[in-house]
Amino acid sequence: MLVDYHTHNYLCKHADGKLEEYIQHAIKIGLNEIGCADHSPMPNNWDIEVRMYEEQFWNEYKPTVLELKEKYNDKISVKFGLEGDFFPGTETWVKEFLAKSEFDYVIGSVHYLGEWGFDNPIFVHRYEEQDIDSVYISYYEHIRRSAQSKLFDIIGHCDLVKKFGHRPKKNMEEIWRETFKVIKEADIAVEINTSGARKPVKEFYPSEQILKIISEYKIPLTLGSDAHTPTDVGRDFDIAKQLIEKYGNGKISIFNKRQRSEVTIG
Ligand code: ZN
Ligand code: FE
Ligand code: FE
Repeated sequence: MLVDYHTHNYLCKHADGKLEEYIQHAIKIGLNEIGCADHSPMPNNWDIEVRMYEEQFWNEYKPTVLELKEKYNDKISVKFGLEGDFFPGTETWVKEFLAKSEFDYVIGSVHYLGEWGFDNPIFVHRYEEQDIDSVYISYYEHIRRSAQSKLFDIIGHCDLVKKFGHRPKKNMEEIWRETFKVIKEADIAVEINTSGARKPVKEFYPSEQILKIISEYKIPLTLGSDAHTPTDVGRDFDIAKQLIEKYGNGKISIFNKRQRSEVTIG
């Protein structure tokens, strides 16, 4: 069983291709499931440059995913997912928004520290203005709070802060342990996200050091390419599969209406 649970489409304005093209590519490469997980709208259509309008969610994203789920039913299982944002202060809005749709799963991602979209290439210069250790510490505080919020099923790209290659001086082991303990207690899965290999840092999210801790804590894994173009669906999954053998006993989690179950990868 092989799945890609993290894919985008043109609605977020920084990805190419229609939902259907992502699904067709997934079929072409032989995936069993593809999860559509485009960027969620935010309250008052905040940061609309990199996400869909709320109206587009209701009028286009949701109906299209559900329609394609039917259309390709005999070829692939299409999952209705979303990549939500953990942004302190928006929890109630997110909770109410998520409750209005029957998602198969929701990824919770930290993309903002304060109002700084730290993974947005436009704002990369802001790393130079701050202490990288403090950026990392703040990032993991956000990750822990995102897990404790109980809003999400999967923690997205859990070391995204390394995206542009900024590394902390501080040894992060203790902070990672504290963080993944919280994730384990919250009973949430963590994704192996292969997109980091296509970014300046040139490694998957998370690193093997972190995967080691994840496997010690027996935290369930999911798998995603974070495709922003249809041909990135399933990208580098051969390597990811080996990591899942090594750090996840060869098992991944899949979701149906926000219920998690485990399957053997292959
Ligand atoms: Zn994106
Ligand atoms: Fe993301
Ligand atoms: Fe994403």
